Amino acid sequence: MSYRGTLMAVYAHPDDESFGTGGTLALYAERGYRVVLLTATKGEAGEIQDPTMRSDEPISEIRQRELKCACEILGIEGPYYLGYRDSGMAGSPDNERPDSFLQADLDEATGRVVEAIRRFRPDVIITFEPGGGYGHPDHIKANEVATRAFHLAGDPARYPEQGLPPWQPRKLYYTALPRRLFRAMAQRMREAGIDPAQRGYNYEERGMPDEVISTEIDVSGVLDKKTRAFLCHRSQISPNGIIAQLPTEAMQEFMRTEYFWRVVPESPVEGVERDLFAGL
Ligand SMILES: [Zn+2]
Repeated sequence: MSYRGTLMAVYAHPDDESFGTGGTLALYAERGYRVVLLTATKGEAGEIQDPTMRSDEPISEIRQRELKCACEILGIEGPYYLGYRDSGMAGSPDNERPDSFLQADLDEATGRVVEAIRRFRPDVIITFEPGGGYGHPDHIKANEVATRAFHLAGDPARYPEQGLPPWQPRKLYYTALPRRLFRAMAQRMREAGIDPAQRGYNYEERGMPDEVISTEIDVSGVLDKKTRAFLCHRSQISPNGIIAQLPTEAMQEFMRTEYFWRVVPESPVEGVERDLFAGL
């Protein structure tokens, strides 16, 4: 099978791919690109958010099944697990476990992503922004590891023991939700009679500065796949959460566009870039 190019996503937990960039992943798969997902952990520290779901099964088993479901719907390859354990929220005891992603040696973890880059030869890599979206330690670590791997995979002097030819991807993007999106969401919540401040998030303060957003992908053509992939992660969707409560039209309005910060190449983007493969 010949592909138009390869996109690799590097995330931390089952659900990161669908909640953040499910539309982009599905869109490029539909357009004939190879789309590969690396996920650092199996979400072992997650809790079942849906109280109607009762199970004695380990959460990691449930979440692996949910991620497989999402990948099938998105039409993407994977998941390929990096093999670390979910570190849990910042400050939780799971942070200290030696098998956690947070405690993983940076060079060793980078090597695992370098190996995947050399094997799949992506043109474009996407991962979290340095703040991990909302500061989850595994998201921040995924950013560090993927960014280092992006810069080292093309260097023959690094990780020669892998026995794979070096490969330099061309473009690196961070997923980045703009502040204006959170402001608009807060406004819609108030219109729907929900007080955003009561939801534990300061929506007015969240998000990246609008000016770092270089790239907007219109995923309205694959909203159905994005929504269904998202719903695969049933264990992680709280029926009392914002997503379940906002009116469908408002949710769809926010799901229709996915936002990125182009990091490599560094050259400024003229206007708004609308294709991750632009210029390749
Ligand atoms: Zn996550």
